[in-house]
Amino acid sequence: MSVAETLQKNLSSIHDSIAAACQRSGRDPSSVRLVAVTKYAEWEWVQELSRLHSTFGENRPQQLAERQALLPQVEWHLIGQLQRNKVKQALQHAAMIHSVDSLRLLQEIVKVARGLNLRPRLLLQVNVSGEESKSGFTPDELRSSWPEITEHSESVSIEGLMTMAPETDDLSIVRPVFAGLRLLRDELAVRPESQQRRISLPELSMGMSGDYVPAIEEGATLVRIGSRVFEGCEVQP
Ligand SMILES: *Cc1c(COP(=O)(O)O)cnc(C)c1O
Repeated sequence: MSVAETLQKNLSSIHDSIAAACQRSGRDPSSVRLVAVTKYAEWEWVQELSRLHSTFGENRPQQLAERQALLPQVEWHLIGQLQRNKVKQALQHAAMIHSVDSLRLLQEIVKVARGLNLRPRLLLQVNVSGEESKSGFTPDELRSSWPEITEHSESVSIEGLMTMAPETDDLSIVRPVFAGLRLLRDELAVRPESQQRRISLPELSMGMSGDYVPAIEEGATLVRIGSRVFEGCEVQP
């Protein structure tokens, strides 16, 4: 099978399982967007995929910038950790940043965005599971920083929350993490600071190749899927 055929088959099977998960949970399939994560993909595969799909995710700002410049018709989302010295590059090339993981980073984004006269679309990354290895606001940090975060809403568009579940097949561990992100969003969206500034947090970025089905059942609007999209693609000799 050619790379194009493999990608088509993978995408259609992912879209089918997204639709099935939506049906089970009474959701409209158009409320879930696939972010195809290209971080480990060969450039040829990325080019083929751009004929079939138009929302891509990269976890490194440098590779995102290079690839965005070559495929500007695609919407590129930054999903990985952002150092403060890479903020300008990220803002110039990313349509959305999913990984705003601290107040200091948010403050830097606000400063750089003003200088560039941009109003970037952002998601706040939350460490719901509490694993040491994961970055992000703790739920309590996000609650206590909320007045300050929402003050920046003239400079940045805060569109929702992102999380990563622990790496396990055990649904009884991952499902509460996804549900926890949704409940935290619901709680923050009704805070007076949010209502005053019309911050409704519609987006929940959660779910990867191994766990996107339970994530959708718990309310994901953006699923970040890499290995399932490129499964079976082979490097040309
Ligand atoms: C790599 C990555 C993904 C996609 O992972 P797969 O398991 O390959 O689907 C999703 N989110 C983040 C933040 C990533 O770094």
